[in-house]
Parts: sequence; structure tokens; C-alpha cells
Amino acid sequence: MKSGSSHGHVSHADAHASERVAAMLRDLKEAGLKATPQRVAVIETFANDPTHPTAQELFDRLRERFPAMSFATVYNTLDALASAGLASTLRLGTAARFDPNTTPHHHAVCDRCGAVNDIPTESMAPTDDAKRHLASAAPGFVVRAEERIFRGICGECGALVSRGERKLS
Ligand code: ZN
Ligand code: MN
Repeated sequence: MKSGSSHGHVSHADAHASERVAAMLRDLKEAGLKATPQRVAVIETFANDPTHPTAQELFDRLRERFPAMSFATVYNTLDALASAGLASTLRLGTAARFDPNTTPHHHAVCDRCGAVNDIPTESMAPTDDAKRHLASAAPGFVVRAEERIFRGICGECGALVSRGERKLS
């Protein structure tokens, strides 16, 4: 069953998304939180969201359908998922962004629009090079994962910029 996913990707991504919803609902119960309609809505919206939303962005989106939704419901649900390891948090600016993708990946961040895209990787284990640098720059530091952020201009922004340039010429 496809519940109104607003982004255009259909296919096996939807199957992954519904598995994710099921796993998140299981974990919510294990965290001692009842699967209320509002919490289920938070999870369904979040599990299908590739944009790395902040709690506020999800709240704004959900409030249209659930006018009685409180920010605390959104935040606490995301927090429970993060504690259970079914979501990770990402800090790129001031507010924490939440990420439902728990497979190993790096991120590409657009300088212009702020879009955050997942870049799959084999492993987040630190490379030998990274370990060497850590040993000299941060003696005693115990590394858990090596996360990369690629910064630049996304495809959409690149197209906008080159269209603008064409208009000027
Ligand atoms: Zn962009
Ligand atoms: Mn991600």
C-alpha cells in the first residue's frame, strides 16, 4: 500500500520505506511509547522522507493534517527512534536534522539550497589514513565512525545557475 508519498520515486524504495515504518513502530512500543495515531503519522511521514528534516520541518508538515499535533509529540517520537538506533541525527547548522536511513552513508550538502543527499558507502569504519591522522592530531581519541560531508552545488541549483548564465549571455 502506497500512502501518499509526495516525492516521485516509486519502486523498491517504497518496500524499504514500509519495512522501515514497521521496524520503527516496533521500536516505539519497545521504548514504551504507545502507537497513537499521531505518533504513527510522525513515523510514516519521517520514514519516507529523504530530506533529513528538522523536527520543526516535520512538525510544520504534519500540522496541516493533524492540527492538534504538538511539537513535543514530533520531537519525542524522533528522539525515541534515535535512541533506539532507527534514526540518526545530523548537525549541519543550528538545528539537528533527523535521518531515517540507517545504512552506511556519507552526505552531500548543497551550498546554495542546503539540500542534503545520501551518498552510500561500504563502511563508515575509519580508514588507516584517518587513524594515522587522529593518532597524531588527537592523541587518545577513540574513533567510532568516519563520516564525510561533500560540499558543493546540487544538480538542480547547478541547472538554475547555468540557465541564469545563458539568459545573461
Ligand atoms: Zn541546491
Ligand atoms: Mn542521510
